[in-house]
Amino acid sequence: MIVLKFGGTSVADAKNIQKVGAIVAQLLKKNKKTKIAVVVSAMTGVTDELIKISSMAANHEAGYTDLFNKLRIRHRHTIRDLKLMKDKSVNDHNEELFAGLKDILHGVYLVGELSPRTLDFISGHGELLCAKMVAASFKILKMRSGFMDARNFIKTDESFGSALVDFTITNKNLKSYFRETKNEVEVITGFVAATSKNETTTLGRGGSDYTAAIVGAALDATEIQIWTDVDGVMTADPRKVKKAFSIPTMTYEEAMEMSHFGAKVIHPPTIQPALEKAIPLRIKNTFRPEAFGTLISTKSDGGPFLIKGVSSIDDISLLTLQGSGMVGVSGISARLFNALSQSKVNVILITQGSSEHAITFAVKPGDAAYAKKSIDAAFLLEIKNHLLQPIKVETGLSIIAVIGESMRNTPGVSGKLFQALGKNGISIVATAQGSSELNISTVIHKGNLMKGLNALHQTFFLSDVKTLSVYLVGAGLIGNTLIKQIEKHKQFLQKERMMEISIAGIATSKKMYFNADGINLKRYREFLDNDGEKMTMPAFIERMKDLNLPQSIFVDCTSSEDIASHYAKILDSSISIVTPNKIGNAGTYTQYKKVREIERKRNVRFLYETNVGAGLPIISTLNDLLTSGDKIISIEAVLSGTLSYIFNNYKEGVNFSDVVNKAKELGYTEPDPRDDLRGTDVARKLLILARETGLALELKDIKVEQILPPNCLKAKSVPDFMKQLVASDNVFETRRKNAASKQKQLRFIAKLENGKATVSLLEVDTNHPFYHLSGSDNIISFKTERYHDRPLVVKGPGAGAEVTAAGVFAQIISIGNYFEGGN
Ligand code: ADP
Ligand code: ASP
Ligand code: MG
Repeated sequence: MIVLKFGGTSVADAKNIQKVGAIVAQLLKKNKKTKIAVVVSAMTGVTDELIKISSMAANHEAGYTDLFNKLRIRHRHTIRDLKLMKDKSVNDHNEELFAGLKDILHGVYLVGELSPRTLDFISGHGELLCAKMVAASFKILKMRSGFMDARNFIKTDESFGSALVDFTITNKNLKSYFRETKNEVEVITGFVAATSKNETTTLGRGGSDYTAAIVGAALDATEIQIWTDVDGVMTADPRKVKKAFSIPTMTYEEAMEMSHFGAKVIHPPTIQPALEKAIPLRIKNTFRPEAFGTLISTKSDGGPFLIKGVSSIDDISLLTLQGSGMVGVSGISARLFNALSQSKVNVILITQGSSEHAITFAVKPGDAAYAKKSIDAAFLLEIKNHLLQPIKVETGLSIIAVIGESMRNTPGVSGKLFQALGKNGISIVATAQGSSELNISTVIHKGNLMKGLNALHQTFFLSDVKTLSVYLVGAGLIGNTLIKQIEKHKQFLQKERMMEISIAGIATSKKMYFNADGINLKRYREFLDNDGEKMTMPAFIERMKDLNLPQSIFVDCTSSEDIASHYAKILDSSISIVTPNKIGNAGTYTQYKKVREIERKRNVRFLYETNVGAGLPIISTLNDLLTSGDKIISIEAVLSGTLSYIFNNYKEGVNFSDVVNKAKELGYTEPDPRDDLRGTDVARKLLILARETGLALELKDIKVEQILPPNCLKAKSVPDFMKQLVASDNVFETRRKNAASKQKQLRFIAKLENGKATVSLLEVDTNHPFYHLSGSDNIISFKTERYHDRPLVVKGPGAGAEVTAAGVFAQIISIGNYFEGGN
């Protein structure tokens, strides 16, 4: 005997029912001597519809009849599509059921009352209707098939909605029926059963799996197969974790934990009957019968991973009993759980701190109020005497559990779990580990559920490729270059660094566009243009928070003050930041400190190497010196590529204005070259360096020499300025000549010494490391206690989209390493 169970989607319509027929026929061909029992669910959605129709009728909503008629038509159409119109037995059977349903629903409508008994009677109809059609469709395939109404065999108590099976009678009934039957295949209704008085009961939502296990165990089946719409039990719920994959083998205990902790693919009580008789349970995909699926038995081949799966219970409430009256007093928990069991509240998880000051436990949200009432009543005296506090109820929570037998005696599983949640800014409200070490459960806020599941799945299963979710604001020159670099290095990153960068959101100053699965970078402009929403920073932040993806990084490739003003909020949402935008770090010192505080508090990263000297390792070098205990004596630097170019090319025989003009033509300057020549940009960079050394300076504390004469500064337009500059050539020429007479060169230098920061045009001699500077290079010289006589110098191209984007790219990757466990 083999038992097969087909779920709702497997019998959703005539086409699928035919697939089921083909699977059963094939099995029959292979196992000529074996009888087959086929348990079927209602067609997908039908049980939900029946429940909805019932409650509408009970609420006097006349519209219930429309839904009822639709349901009837859906079944009639299925009969038609299965070419069973001429099979009177099916048609009459189903029409009779619908006629009976119509009457009882009318009754519910009239009295406005729906008892659990009546609801079971109505909601069990989906299976009765469906199984009959399936049995008839098998006949067309020339199988000798019969139809079994499980209510005649499976007997239960009167706990309507989730009845308890009387196995003695049930097993006897099933055995004697199957002994007699001459049919090759029996099609049995799942989910429904009956009391000894033949009143319809149900086995709980999703209970058709259980029916299959009951039948399988009663008849000592060689195998129980659960056919559904996925390739077996997967490492996580595939609707929540896109990268979930199927688990080839697991033990009954592992499967039990998975289903108990929310893996809907198997209804929890299903495992027990199979386990007791050691009958293998196989989970298969009706739509991909060739896939191996999952084999659940006494053995599991272990597999390469530390755990088997990650599962969740999406909605729970947490109740806590606490107070000094608990410490050292025995019997408190016995009384507590006694009160719960008397009020029939099922406890999902329990934790107790070793201080014995509190016991915390999780229940279904619907049970919370009732549980509180019964416990508060049980401890009335202690609460009155302030020995215990009334039960505290916390809502809006979920449980995430990691499950698997290999974690037994394997250290480090919980460490990995807490680290993955922590690095993603998910705080743990409570945690419990069963002594069987089959699962570790954590209670978290429901808003973090998807992120938590994905982060844990990534940590435990995808040791190969880690996904970083990037939100990019600013698709100008740098942003665009970054996108191109990410595209270009995609394969290398996946292969060599086991990393994948997925752009989950992108924005220009006008529009924003999101896709949690990653935006196709070749077409992002098109998506922004056609489907983009209006861009505002508060809306962008809300969307990032809603998506709540693990390993999230915000990348600001703008020079906008508005965007920088939101950094604190972004970090506070547990999202790291990488940016070349220096406005944020050059804002007020209070803001600068606040961002760092939040960075620490939230355990996220804020990286901005490209704020100074583009891709050159300036900030990191400075930090390395400081953290290794060195002391900075002075910093001297040429920090503007534009001004570097201008002064490196300003030589004898050339006019200063011509050099500026040339730089402008080459695109080295801002549209208004005064923005460079005023020195503000250099002052900002120096301010950032000064703050890195620990100085609490503001921008106004940086003394900047104005090298432009007043007529140039005052010019109303850029052409006017260029004209004024020609008129001022002699001012510069005097300074240059003066320096040259002493064999010196003019350099625009930022300097930090003795806590003072200045930016000015200085003369340097041939011994100075800046004397031979050429092109538009940046140079920075750190004079420290260690690098005293010969300062540490970093030199190279300090501007340009390619090097800046590459610097940003490198820091994104470094965050990826951080998530992997590095710093
Ligand atoms: P059926 O109607 O066949 O009984 P269900 O909807 O009850 O199917 O169960 C199958 C569904 O369970 C899958 O489509 C999947 O979305 C969900 N599911 C949740 N967790 C898991 C998991 N860990 N592995 C596989 N499927 C899961
Ligand atoms: N049809 C029932 C339900 O939807 C039972 C099942 O599908 O297993 O709950
Ligand atoms: Mg199911």
